[in-house]
Amino acid sequence: TENTKVIGRFAPSPTGPLHVGSLVAAVGSYILARREGGLWFLRMEDLDLPRVVPCIADDMLSTLETLGFQWDGEVLYQSRRTDYYREAAEELVRRRLAYPCGCTRSEIAQIASAPHEDGLVYPGLCREGLPPEKVERALRVKVYDEVISFQDGIMGLYGQHLTASCGDFVIHRADGPYAYHLAVVIDDAATGVNQVVRGADLLSSTPRQIYLQRLFNYPTPSYWHLPLVTGPDGAKLSKRDHAVSLAHGRDLAREGGHLLACALRFLGQSPPAALEKAPPAEVLEWGVSHLDLASIPRKPGPFPL
Ligand code: GLU
Repeated sequence: TENTKVIGRFAPSPTGPLHVGSLVAAVGSYILARREGGLWFLRMEDLDLPRVVPCIADDMLSTLETLGFQWDGEVLYQSRRTDYYREAAEELVRRRLAYPCGCTRSEIAQIASAPHEDGLVYPGLCREGLPPEKVERALRVKVYDEVISFQDGIMGLYGQHLTASCGDFVIHRADGPYAYHLAVVIDDAATGVNQVVRGADLLSSTPRQIYLQRLFNYPTPSYWHLPLVTGPDGAKLSKRDHAVSLAHGRDLAREGGHLLACALRFLGQSPPAALEKAPPAEVLEWGVSHLDLASIPRKPGPFPL
């Protein structure tokens, strides 16, 4: 059998400061790649420019550095890769796998079946051609009547029937960026990523991404969806919760070891208490050499700070 090197990545969206939720994704993806001697890439998902907060990307990089993370190669910025996304979208149109759609959100809402967890199911109105009275608002990729499933390394078997879950989905908005699903698939393939470790909020996006990989004949990486960090009220943490920003009011060089140990505990690992005083890089190294995969919980929970 071929000895394939693991290539993992951490792909934060620089829309807010690094918080404990993104720290868990950083630690998880880092450890899973490094424990196999693999590479770990960093990608800034700064495609959605209006929402991107200036300087946040640089902040994130220096926070990661202070915490002892060492990434391979150059940081990839999605905002500089629009040409590749355009090429891919055009290819799908040429192959008649994608088509222009002129429906507004309210038009879709009027006829769509019950909303799915990720939004409305598109009923395919423009599939057979853009009606003459409509202007192009988005490009949608056609989905077919099939279940796309995969074995997640943590969450187990997960599948989705795309026709019922989302219908033909958007890969580009006429007045906006290329869709996250398209960009992720293009970038992971372009950089040879074969291991995707990220938060469980993206579990339900994965079948769409696998579907796109198949259309482009790209290999499907292995997937590992980490449990989500919840806030005090049990709800999902978001980057807008500035209270949980990592750098806020903290001396990361001193407290970094503690934060990383907390992230490891959140992931079900048991780093020795004495380790917390060690430099952050040593705590990460402990995680790399001691990871017990079976102990990573599936259920969301609070961050044990
Ligand atoms: N940019 C996404 C986020 O910050 C993660 C994308 C991914 O890991 O595939 O939630």
